[in-house]
Amino acid sequence: MGDVTLELIHRLANVLLGVSALTVAALIVVEIGRRPTRRREPLGIAFCIVFLAIGLRAAVRVTLEHVPSVPREAAATVVAVDVLAAGAALAFLALRRRYGVFIESADIVREYETEYAAKEREAHALAQVNEELRRLDELKSEFLAMVSHELRTPLTAIVGYGRLLLRQVHGPLNAKQVEHQEAIFRSAQRLTDLINDLLDVSRLEAARIELHPRATDARQVTEHVIAAVRVAAQAKQLHLLNELGESLPLVQADQTRLHQVLVNLVGNAIKFTPAGGIVRIRGGRHNEQVWIAVEDTGVGIAREELARIWDPFYQVESPMRRQHGGSGLGLAIVRRLVELHGGLVRAESEGEGRGSRFSFTLPIATEALRPEGAPEPEAALEPVLAGREVLIVEDDEASQALMRSVVEDVLGGRARVCADGEEAVREASERPPALLLLDLMLPHLSGWEVARRLRQHPATRGLLIIAVSALARPQEREAALHAGCDAYLSKPFLPDELARVVATTLLSEGVSSR
Ligand code: ADP
Repeated sequence: MGDVTLELIHRLANVLLGVSALTVAALIVVEIGRRPTRRREPLGIAFCIVFLAIGLRAAVRVTLEHVPSVPREAAATVVAVDVLAAGAALAFLALRRRYGVFIESADIVREYETEYAAKEREAHALAQVNEELRRLDELKSEFLAMVSHELRTPLTAIVGYGRLLLRQVHGPLNAKQVEHQEAIFRSAQRLTDLINDLLDVSRLEAARIELHPRATDARQVTEHVIAAVRVAAQAKQLHLLNELGESLPLVQADQTRLHQVLVNLVGNAIKFTPAGGIVRIRGGRHNEQVWIAVEDTGVGIAREELARIWDPFYQVESPMRRQHGGSGLGLAIVRRLVELHGGLVRAESEGEGRGSRFSFTLPIATEALRPEGAPEPEAALEPVLAGREVLIVEDDEASQALMRSVVEDVLGGRARVCADGEEAVREASERPPALLLLDLMLPHLSGWEVARRLRQHPATRGLLIIAVSALARPQEREAALHAGCDAYLSKPFLPDELARVVATTLLSEGVSSR
C-alpha cells in the first residue's frame, strides 16, 4: 500500500474516531444529566473522559501532516489500530441505548442495595422492639401472677372464715348475721372469680393456655353446668333446658374449658333473663363441626352492640344489666377459648327485649370416648384426722388460723404451725407429723425446696404433703407436684375444700403403695 493511501486511510479513520468519540462523550454527558437521581456517576464520568481524550487525540492527528513519527514499517499497524478504534467507537455509538440501560440497571441495583440496607436496619429495630415487647409481656404476666397471689392470700381468710361462720361451726348465728355473712361471702367469691378471669384473659392473650383436647360428650358437660347454676336459675324461676340430642357427635375439646365456656354463656343467659323466662341449650352437627347454642328469652341485645360485646371489659349499659355487675371479661374468654379449639362464636338477637342466642362451633372428635379413670375416692367430711398431728407451714397469720380451724374444728386433728421454710424442714425431721400443709412462698426456703428436702430425708420421705398456695398457674402446680407434694390446693379455698383434699389424700395414702 502506498504512502498516500495509508495517509488517507489514517486521516479518514481519525476523522471517524474523533467524531464518534466526541459524540459518545457528549451522549454520556446528556445521559448522566437526564437521570432522575442527582447521584454522581463515576463510571459514566470515567467513560466520558476517556472518549473525550480519544476524540481530541484523533482530532489532533487529523491535522498532522504525516502519520506521526513511527518507523515506516510500523505505520500500517498504527493506521490499523486507528481504524479499529474508530470501528469500536462507532459500535459503541450504535449500542448507546444499551449503555443507557446499563446505567439504569446500575442505578436500580444501587437503589435496591440502599433500600435493602434500610430494610435490614428496620428489621433489626423491629426485632429489638419485639424482644422488648416479649420481655414486657413476661413482666406483665409475672406482675399479674404476683398481684393475684397477693389478692388471693387475704381472700383465703375472707372466704374461708365466711364459710366457717355460715356452717355455724362456732355456735349459731341469728338471721341478720347469716344474711350479712352471706353477702360478704358472695362478694368475696365474686372477687375470686374476677381475679381468675383477669388471669385467664391475660394468659389467653399471650396464648399461654394449653388445651388438653379429647373426645368429650358435650351433653354430659352441659348437665354438669346446669347442675352448677341450678340454684341461681331457681332463684329467678327460670326454666333451664338441656335440649342436646343423644345423636350429637362427641366433640374434640378440653373438658374443663368447654365447661368454662358453657358456664359463662348459661350464666349470662340466667343473668340477663327476667324471672319466669326460658334458657335452652341446643346443638347439632354441621359438616365436620358441632354447633352448640345457648338461647334465652331475656333482655336481648341491640344490633349495633352485637360485635362489641366480645371485647374485653365491654358491657352494654342498661338498667336491667347494671343490676348484675360482672367484669365484661366472660365473653372475651369464651371467644378466645372457642377459637383456640378451632371453632367460631356468634351472637344473635332480634333486638332489645327479644332474647339472645349465643352459639359456637367445635370440631367433631377424632377419637372414641376414653373411659374415665377410676373416680377419686370421695371422702365425707368427718373428723378423719382423729387426733393426728398436722404441721401447717404458712407465713400469713390469717391463713394459718384458718387452716388450724379446719384441721382442729372440722377434721379433729392437732395443728402445729411454723412460718418459715428452714424451720419447717427441722420441725418435720425432728417430729414427723401425719401431714404437712405447705405454703409455697415462704421466707428463707421456698415450699418447693422444703418438699424436695423432706423427700430426700429418710425420716420424712413418706410424709404426706399438700401444697396450699395462692400461685394459681399450672406451671406452679406442676412444679409443686414435681418437687414431691402429694396434692395441690390453690387459695382462696373453702374450708370444705381443704377438708376434702386432706381427707382424700389420707384415704389415697391408705390405698397407695407409698
Ligand atoms: P359480663 O357478663 O361480666 O358483663 P360478658 O363478657 O360475659 O361480661 O358479657 C358482656 C356483655 O354482653 C354483658 O355485660 C351484657 O351487656 C351482654 N350480654 C352477654 N350475654 C347476654 C345475654 N344472654 N343477653 C343479653 N346481653 C348479654
